[in-house]
Amino acid sequence: MARLKNNQPMSMKKIFARARKSLVGGVNSPVRAFKSVGGTPLFVHGGSGAYLFADDGKSYLDFCLSWGPLMFGHARRELVKAAQDAMARGSTFGAATQAEVNLAERIKKAFPSIELMRMTSSGTEAGMSAARAARAFTGRDLIIKFAGCYHGHFDSLLVAAGSGATTLGVPDSAGVPKSFAATTIVVPFNDLKAVENAFKKNKGKIAAIFVEPIPANMGVVFPAKGFLEGLRRITKREKALLVFDEVITGFRVCYGGAQTIYKIKPDLTVLGKIIGGGLPMGAYGGRRDVMSVISPEGPAYQAGTLSGNPVAVAAGTAMLDLLRDESPYKRMAQLADYMCEGLRRVSLRSGVPLRIQSIGSMFTPFFLEGEVTDYASAMKADKAAYGRYFHGMLKRGVYLPPAQWEAAFVSYAHTEKDLNIAIGAAAESFQEI
Ligand SMILES: *Cc1c(COP(=O)(O)O)cnc(C)c1O
Repeated sequence: MARLKNNQPMSMKKIFARARKSLVGGVNSPVRAFKSVGGTPLFVHGGSGAYLFADDGKSYLDFCLSWGPLMFGHARRELVKAAQDAMARGSTFGAATQAEVNLAERIKKAFPSIELMRMTSSGTEAGMSAARAARAFTGRDLIIKFAGCYHGHFDSLLVAAGSGATTLGVPDSAGVPKSFAATTIVVPFNDLKAVENAFKKNKGKIAAIFVEPIPANMGVVFPAKGFLEGLRRITKREKALLVFDEVITGFRVCYGGAQTIYKIKPDLTVLGKIIGGGLPMGAYGGRRDVMSVISPEGPAYQAGTLSGNPVAVAAGTAMLDLLRDESPYKRMAQLADYMCEGLRRVSLRSGVPLRIQSIGSMFTPFFLEGEVTDYASAMKADKAAYGRYFHGMLKRGVYLPPAQWEAAFVSYAHTEKDLNIAIGAAAESFQEI
């Protein structure tokens, strides 16, 4: 086990107070700070399989799993070895390596819609660059996105919900110029009419539609029958590009991502998370003619000192090979189903309304009644109840995503025994909601 030696239990409150003196909000990514659920965040020093080891001396059964990359749980032996070996050969060269070509070939094999790609260091960077490619290729500025879909924190797509109606974007974050946000049109997910209206109002001006084909960043939500097909049809007709953000779903819902499940061929695909095997990595790619606008082939500049970093590429390649060879998808889906069934039983018994939406190894328990089909229905969830559930579970050694509107994950390292522990903890936690 990857525990620290001499692991003296420490107070999370003390560590957090110290962290806040040097790091903004004590963290390097906001949701880690537990603002949404309240309380003191977890500081972690290690993990093994399905478990996290925290600085309070306790182990936690992990359903957050670093927000998605860890298909095999923490510190899977083959991934550790691949990264260690790459590190020993030299961690970065700023020159091309064959290892990048090997990884690119694996990604192309899994995603036939990708003819050419470019690797980056994060999903945000890949999404941002895909937006640039789409604009450069079409010579148009506007991008349609869906309320509740997240494409990273870059300026022009950091625009979330208008309430239902098709609205020109208003920035969701301070520091995003109104003029940038105004290049984004936000429409409700699953609303083809709103998409049609946006195209009607902005004839010949829309470069692309960005979509998470199975949204996971407002919790797990499904595309209605015909919705993704409709986006494909409309974008073709309007000579705009369809961009699938599969940073979560790629290699997650199946090896070839959501586009394989729904049999839709997007023009561009954005990837991240799993393809780095737990190291910083992203990629975007798609049609050869579109991707050829990117430098050095074309006029759209995009670069990165650590892009295609050898250590990340080695870990990512090892991850994809494990996924290909061990084919864990069926087993992981069974585990997630088992967990979701357990949670349903617990909620029925306790009378706490719960709607669970899941596909494969990812799921979201929404604290509400009824279906979640878009951002507006997701917002009906009881955030405070989720917070109480979260802390009930944490107290009992189970770590969940510290926010209601997120996907939880199981890994191939989780066992039925682990899930029984979690379901037992949920039964007790629900008594406190
Ligand atoms: C996580 C995520 C991103 C951003 O990736 P980072 O590596 O965090 O920059 C983009 N799109 C989706 C769908 C994501 O889930």
